[in-house]
Amino acid sequence: MRNVDLLIIGGGPAGLAAAVSAYEQGCRDILILEREDTLGGILRQCIHNGFGLHTFQEELTGPEYAQKYIDRVIACQIPYQCSTMVIEITKGKQVTAVNRSNGLQHFQAKAVILAMGCRERPRGALAIPGWRCSGIYTAGTAQKFVNLEGIMPGQRVVILGSGDIGLIMARRMTFMGAKVLACVELLPFSSGLKRNIVQCLDDYDIPLLLNHTVVDISGRERLEGVTVAQVDPETKLPIAGTEQYFACDTLLLSVGLIPENELSRMAGIELCGATGGPTVDETLQTSVEGIFSCGNVLHVHDLVDFVSEEAEKAGATAWRYIADTLNQDLKTVPVISGFGVSGAVPQKIHVGNADQPITLMFRPKNVYQNAKVCVTAGEKEIYRRTSRILTPGEMVSLKLKPEVLRQIADADDLTVKVEAS
Ligand SMILES: Cc1cc2nc3c(=O)[nH]c(=O)nc-3n(C[C@H](O)[C@H](O)[C@H](O)COP(=O)(O)OP(=O)(O)OC[C@H]3O[C@@H](n4cnc5c(N)ncnc54)[C@H](O)[C@@H]3O)c2cc1C
Repeated sequence: MRNVDLLIIGGGPAGLAAAVSAYEQGCRDILILEREDTLGGILRQCIHNGFGLHTFQEELTGPEYAQKYIDRVIACQIPYQCSTMVIEITKGKQVTAVNRSNGLQHFQAKAVILAMGCRERPRGALAIPGWRCSGIYTAGTAQKFVNLEGIMPGQRVVILGSGDIGLIMARRMTFMGAKVLACVELLPFSSGLKRNIVQCLDDYDIPLLLNHTVVDISGRERLEGVTVAQVDPETKLPIAGTEQYFACDTLLLSVGLIPENELSRMAGIELCGATGGPTVDETLQTSVEGIFSCGNVLHVHDLVDFVSEEAEKAGATAWRYIADTLNQDLKTVPVISGFGVSGAVPQKIHVGNADQPITLMFRPKNVYQNAKVCVTAGEKEIYRRTSRILTPGEMVSLKLKPEVLRQIADADDLTVKVEAS
């Protein structure tokens, strides 16, 4: 059993930023464990630009963004082990990992940061009729094939789901010479960023079929085509007579991301139904003392810049926990997701811990124009702002300043809601 002050599981943008932040606060005994053979997480395969506008005020590719943090980890001489998979974690912060050179390794940590990212929802979760033929990939798997391994999955492509990875892949496959026939979305709106719809679909005349889904898959060994139908916006059931057939050899699925929470569950951490990640307080501490969570394992982010910001907070507060300067004996109030709000994070706030601003993040449940985002403490409104447009594809982030937080000392709960105009 090896003792370590701060053990970070996952060497993606969240794990890297958390490590650097903890180091900068004074933590000198840190270890990052990463199952892939290099650091950087999923950003290694995101070779398009558009990363880092908030954090570095410049437009970077995914690998460039990740490299900035990898360089800082190396400059701070923070130890890390790649090709090392964490397979077990206990409530007492004992962590078991495995790799080819050391076999099983056991660690006793003072604090743990969960930064395992998320994975894509696969075909099995969709129950589309048809054979299990080749040619059907999640968009992220296709991204890995094309960008990291130089393999083209196919030439005539339909994309199901309009999440950001699907949109990015529509453009990428077009750049690589494939014909993208359509992007098919069940909902009446895209779940991706507006900028990606414009830059990845509109600019290449790729149709976005809203209120549509794939109802049949043709082909036994290899995909030969898909049948797409319009759906009733209320019931989401296909409307008979609206079917259209697309002859294609590739179907890419971009139908949602799921936080990688097997380890969180194993540690007995309480999970939030709306986000799929742990429930946390404003310090990003989970329901198990000394275990913190950040990045896509906590809730799926749209921009990596927000992942880094959140992870920096987790690193700093984990260090305060280790150094015993984190005041935990304070009343907590739950944060309730009110009308129009899905999965507000953090799910609880310590009142009286109001020396730092608190960032509240959520996804709107629907598209709202000229809507107001309000936070109330009991009956009292403590925050309000107007947004020209709110959409489920773009996270809302609001900062509650210390002078605002001081007003919630007597409240029993905090509610975040949307007031549609
Ligand atoms: C397929 C895919 C493509 C994406 N493309 C884009 C994009 O184009 N643009 C964009 O803005 N955002 C994209 N995102 C979102 C992107 O994931 C986040 O912005 C950001 O990378 C999240 O950082 P993270 O560190 O939380 O997770 P990740 O980057 O996923 O890093 C998590 C790390 O934890 C490691 N890990 C997991 N479990 C274990 C374990 N048990 N033991 C050890 N290590 C473990 C993983 O190997 C991984 O390296 C994409 C996400 C996915 C899933």
